[in-house]
Amino acid sequence: MENAQVADKLREIADLLEMLQKKDEQRYRIRAYREAANNIEYMPEDINTLAAENRLTEIPGVGESIAEKILDILETGTSQYLENLKKKIPADLTELLRVPGLGRKTALVIYQNLGIKTIEELEDAARKGLIRQLPRMGAKTEANILRNIEIYKKRGKGEKRILLGRALPVVREITEQMRKCKYVRKMVGVGSLRRRKETIGDIDIIAVSDSPDEAMDYFTSIPMASEVIAKGKTKSVIVTPSGLQVDLRILPEKNYYSLLQHSTGSKEHNIRLREHALSKGYSLSEYGVHDLKTGRLITFNSEEELYQALGLQYIPPELRENLGEIEAASEGKIPELIELNDVRGDIHAHTKYSDGQNTIREMALKAITLGYEYIAITDHSRSLGVAHGLDETDFEKQWHEIDELNRELRRKGITILKGVELDIRADGSLDLPDDFLEKFDVVIASVHLALNQDKETMTERVLKAIQNPNVDVLGHPTGRLLGKREPINIELSSIFESASKTGTLLEVNGFPDRMDLNGLNCKFAKEKGARMVLTTDAHNVMELEYIEYATYMARRGWLEKKDVINTFSLDKLLHHITQAELRKRRI
Ligand SMILES: [Zn+2]
Ligand SMILES: [Zn+2]
Repeated sequence: MENAQVADKLREIADLLEMLQKKDEQRYRIRAYREAANNIEYMPEDINTLAAENRLTEIPGVGESIAEKILDILETGTSQYLENLKKKIPADLTELLRVPGLGRKTALVIYQNLGIKTIEELEDAARKGLIRQLPRMGAKTEANILRNIEIYKKRGKGEKRILLGRALPVVREITEQMRKCKYVRKMVGVGSLRRRKETIGDIDIIAVSDSPDEAMDYFTSIPMASEVIAKGKTKSVIVTPSGLQVDLRILPEKNYYSLLQHSTGSKEHNIRLREHALSKGYSLSEYGVHDLKTGRLITFNSEEELYQALGLQYIPPELRENLGEIEAASEGKIPELIELNDVRGDIHAHTKYSDGQNTIREMALKAITLGYEYIAITDHSRSLGVAHGLDETDFEKQWHEIDELNRELRRKGITILKGVELDIRADGSLDLPDDFLEKFDVVIASVHLALNQDKETMTERVLKAIQNPNVDVLGHPTGRLLGKREPINIELSSIFESASKTGTLLEVNGFPDRMDLNGLNCKFAKEKGARMVLTTDAHNVMELEYIEYATYMARRGWLEKKDVINTFSLDKLLHHITQAELRKRRI
């Protein structure tokens, strides 16, 4: 058993003791279990070694009694004491505990008196005024429970992951509202949000303050705090008007960068980093780096310093997934990741011609404000009836408009490219004839219909499209919609190999519920030699800003500027597209 698993068991004991305690008699013991659990999880030594050498009581928080339980856990995988405690809790109360702010003790009292196990039953009882009659509860508790059930429902069963595209604006809004608070510095969203994962679990923010009480007063009264679930000196929890829970942790300056690194994760990265630190004679905790020889605690003024102290190059948060980044950093081989500013144009956008909401002109003007050199208008082709796909005559009309707009807007620095998002039919044939496709500047081919084909059929279908000389980009390659639709069945390695061989580009679609390719697939595609384009699939002017999310996926996939073709100037972009076409004609 590993340290973390033993720690989990001890925490479970603490949780159950807390639930079962009468008055405050066990508070000291509960705290000892939690302290022991934390120390065991983060200590550099293996718990098994300490046990074998009879040194368990050297761990802070571990006395004879807890040491006995640890031995029991190491030997049997659990503790008899824990199992006995479990028997005293007559039912599984985990569902009730999903209601924000409903503590274990309250849940137990409700269960013991009313036999309630589900949130539905709880809501019913609260509405009937039954909760207020229970010991140590009142009308206020009852009202709180009802309100928190509403929050729980709004959040979508409390277990769904949140899209990055939803969480990031919330954190930005909170940071904005906290800007006037003079008690707080260095506020930043951590965890998978900081690693820019496409979906995240909880929104966690950390900040520095020398006056935590005032800082927390401020935080719990900003407009974004429509509910306050918990308020303390070091941690507070609010719920935003849209029902998202946000945790703020406040700490003193000297521990900030260590906690920032620690709470950014990922867990896997941190485990690997701890191993690396140990090999250099250091141990790592959320408070800093301990020099094991001198026993000194080292703190830092930046994350860069922290990594440097461990003999490593700085590792950007997007790479911290234990995918070889620590090895790369120790050899000085962390890539220079692509930046948002490197992108010189978007090549996937829809207008009113198909299912978009803005005109070509409006889209082009927005592209200018984003500093772009080009934008490709890629409305749907005809077979996508749901999206008002265009036929040849419609496209010719659109090209006429684009030519006119280009005459007007080129002096403002933007070129509008004639593009199409072409449907790859079920048999791999394309939705427009080849001699017509040749007239477009940019052709994206995407799978939209017949999504349930088996792997072999789907792979053949897409390969056929990639190999067509007129197809420049494979659109949203896996077709997934986060939280709504699984990826299609497809052999991605063959797709990436073919893309590499033909020069057909792979799309990194930044639309928040697509994020397709994701980071891991970008990395895989790059290793196969394929090149990418970052796009938004915007259906209105605002959505052109989703390019930042495409950039995050690319960064998570270790991509550099040179791997992404729309970091090129217009001439170089068009040159690449022509070259790929010629290459395919020769194959
Ligand atoms: Zn599409
Ligand atoms: Zn599209």
